[in-house]
Amino acid sequence: MRLILLGAPGAGKGTQAANISEKLGIPVISTGNIIRREIDKGSALGEAAKRIINEGNLLPDSLVNDMVRARLNEQDCANGFILDGFPRKISQAKFLEEENISIDKVISIEVSDEDILDRMTGRRVCRSCGKSYHIEYNAPKAENICDDCGCELSIRPDDKIETVKNRLEVYHNETEPLKDYYVKKGILSIVFGCEKVEDTVKAVNKVLEA
Ligand code: AMP
Repeated sequence: MRLILLGAPGAGKGTQAANISEKLGIPVISTGNIIRREIDKGSALGEAAKRIINEGNLLPDSLVNDMVRARLNEQDCANGFILDGFPRKISQAKFLEEENISIDKVISIEVSDEDILDRMTGRRVCRSCGKSYHIEYNAPKAENICDDCGCELSIRPDDKIETVKNRLEVYHNETEPLKDYYVKKGILSIVFGCEKVEDTVKAVNKVLEA
């Protein structure tokens, strides 16, 4: 299965992607996580990305598309993958088509801007494996420690309220038009992000089984 997850920042794409990955045994390709790892490594790409990501803007396609092409060519993607955070604009969706990368389903997780702003303040991420948590709605078993890899959790620098507001604006202007794009292709499903993660998981599973 080749899947795309759409949704505003903080809608819960990362959490749903991790659940689907476990269920279907296919990898999650999160462009945000790949970029953050490059920043941590201090690579040339990371240096170029740091300011853009911290302001909540999108990196140029020239940087992101090559990264995605290389990742999708890896062996573990042969039986399918979950794209989390790509495409984020029409030009990136067209890139997938130009590369003959067909997509089976696109799931858009819908959460109101008000709820997003509320959720972001409690978000914590593992910088090592990329898993995300919420201190109230999806807490780790041990305070501030990743359940999967035992590393310390942190607040993303781009989760600051002003940056989140800009990311939401970028989402509505650049990414949301992708919903219409994939409706026209007949592969879009909408899932409403619920307060309880398990309820959203159930709704996503229904789409996968349909
Ligand atoms: P995310 O972890 O998916 O919220 O992504 C964090 C940030 O990484 C975004 O706000 C962008 O700055 C950058 N980014 C991630 N994916 C893309 C993409 N497909 N195109 C451009 N920039 C991206």
